[in-house]
Amino acid sequence: MARFVEVETAAPLIPPRPTLPLLRSLAAGCRACDLYKRGTQTVFGEGAGSARAMMVGEQPGDAEDRLGRPFVGPAGKLLDRALAEAGIDRRAVYVTNVVKHFKWKPRGKRRIHEKPNAREIAACRPWLEAELSLVKPRVLVCLGATAAQALLGRDFKVTRHRGELLRSDLAPYVLATVHPSSLLRAPDEETRRRETLRFVQDLSRIAPLLRDAPQDHAPGP
Ligand code: SF4
Repeated sequence: MARFVEVETAAPLIPPRPTLPLLRSLAAGCRACDLYKRGTQTVFGEGAGSARAMMVGEQPGDAEDRLGRPFVGPAGKLLDRALAEAGIDRRAVYVTNVVKHFKWKPRGKRRIHEKPNAREIAACRPWLEAELSLVKPRVLVCLGATAAQALLGRDFKVTRHRGELLRSDLAPYVLATVHPSSLLRAPDEETRRRETLRFVQDLSRIAPLLRDAPQDHAPGP
């Protein structure tokens, strides 16, 4: 049963001995920022607790909000194809977002993505930190500027460090690249093809880091 508590950040909701299923259940009742009023449901991370890679995006999109699962919409399907092309077993990847509710504004009958603000990102950060502390990924991949700046600092520029393998306290390796949704917004087919290829090349850099040790492919909680 979800608990409903008004708090400044989600930190008070993190239990002393968290597990991924427990966090998911508690996050379902989170009201640490106003986004719970707009989204259909909390979209918590998904994947094996033993995943060697964690991929972090900005926030769930329209399809994710309706289904309650991360990266299941068009951008998620593109990510799945890119992972396969990069030789990465999707089961070795835990996917989540910096912010776990869909922030949107209406435009006609459509729900248009709206970027989360610093207050919302800070409020939601304890969930992400708890996921990181449990999964302990070998490689952390920031998908897009919002994720990269939330995790690596506000001055971090994806354009400058895209595809580089960086060292961090967050994980032995950190890599920042674009969010797959940016590829869907490419102005023409040629740009999309070229940028998708570059995205696959970025992901290919982490593939050897996920292969060189046994991986537990137990299904995620
Ligand atoms: S976006 Fe995050 S902090 Fe805000 S209500 Fe949802 S789960 Fe809680």
